[in-house]
Amino acid sequence: MFKLRKALMTASITVLGLNGCGGAELPEAETASTRQQDQGVATAIPLPVPGCPLDALDSDGDGVCDAMELFLGTSPLKRDTDGDKLDDYAESFGFGGGLDLTALGANPRRKDVFVEVDYYPGLKPTQAMLNQVITAFANAPVSNTDFSTGITLHLVVDQEIAAADADLDLNPVWTDFDVIKAKYFTAARAPYFHYRVFAKQYDGGFSSGISRGVPAHDFVVTVASFNGTELQSAGTLMHELGHNLGLRHGGNDEDNYKPNYLNIMNYEYQFYGFGIGGLNNVLDYSRVSVASFNEASVNEASAFAPAGSTTEADLAAISGLRFNGAQVTGNASGDLDFNNNGSIQAASYARDFNRNGTTNDVFPYAQNDWKALVYDGGGQIGFAGPGFDRDLGREELYFVPPEKMEPCLAGDPSQRR
Ligand SMILES: [Zn+2]
Repeated sequence: MFKLRKALMTASITVLGLNGCGGAELPEAETASTRQQDQGVATAIPLPVPGCPLDALDSDGDGVCDAMELFLGTSPLKRDTDGDKLDDYAESFGFGGGLDLTALGANPRRKDVFVEVDYYPGLKPTQAMLNQVITAFANAPVSNTDFSTGITLHLVVDQEIAAADADLDLNPVWTDFDVIKAKYFTAARAPYFHYRVFAKQYDGGFSSGISRGVPAHDFVVTVASFNGTELQSAGTLMHELGHNLGLRHGGNDEDNYKPNYLNIMNYEYQFYGFGIGGLNNVLDYSRVSVASFNEASVNEASAFAPAGSTTEADLAAISGLRFNGAQVTGNASGDLDFNNNGSIQAASYARDFNRNGTTNDVFPYAQNDWKALVYDGGGQIGFAGPGFDRDLGREELYFVPPEKMEPCLAGDPSQRR
């Protein structure tokens, strides 16, 4: 399909008297300009859509005419066929310059998440580390309109922050972050990309990272503050991106350490992941729905119960479970040694899992989070207006302080909250 589309584009450009070799100039994407000192504006000029005469019917107003949508397999009635907040125009044709999402592999029929990644000197992420998170998204139990499953995560490693600009303590974090962002983030990407910096430390502490709210489109990973491992770095990258995509420490609430919440958003798993399908340390958001769980009546033989469309077999595939800071044997379906005493107890017992000093909490049904992701970056990601003949049509609000910040797991266990 995409080769066909490229061929059609080339053919149509020829018909239009344009070509990619300078016969007629295609508009270049423009970079952001600064309107005021504290506010930027993202602009770019869209490329023409091949095969769409200017008067062609475009029912959904996304800049791609109905005939072309039929050819591409996108919906002529939805501007964003795949529901990832990146519209069909941008995913099919891009804007040239630093905004050619098509060249970066965007697919209007499959969910894509784009992140620009910058890093401090000496903290360039390895591809192996990034691949752990990319693979997690590729394996997501999310259905797409092209009948594939998974989400394509584009971690676009961009550039090193110059030593002179690499503020060592980022304190206060977002004030100092914005100085870096204003200089290093490709602002024209703002409606499409999250922005992440691998930094040394923020607010002078030893936290692993922070998201600029839930959901949001900025985050920082600072496992370097405690010389974190590659797995800790990958887990934190995915954890903070999870906040950017609307997840909280309890999924849809802030209750951390819920035993039935099997997600790296739960601090138990951020640095470890799970055992899934025979592999260890697999990073994952919750791919199962788990029934409510009563810590006053723990049954090791039956472990957790599935809910919704989740089955016992789905639960049985998940191991490497952790409670109260220790990994235990067994799987989520059964024979799970919740108290890590080396045996599977027949009798039920009570245990304080969420570290609040009581053993009578009932943890509610835990959702499948992959199906609950929010793609709009807290209102920052997504095309504000239909596309062919206009600029990006939105203010870039990244200089505006967020209402809520999201500090995350500290590397030093004594500092965990
Ligand atoms: Zn967090």
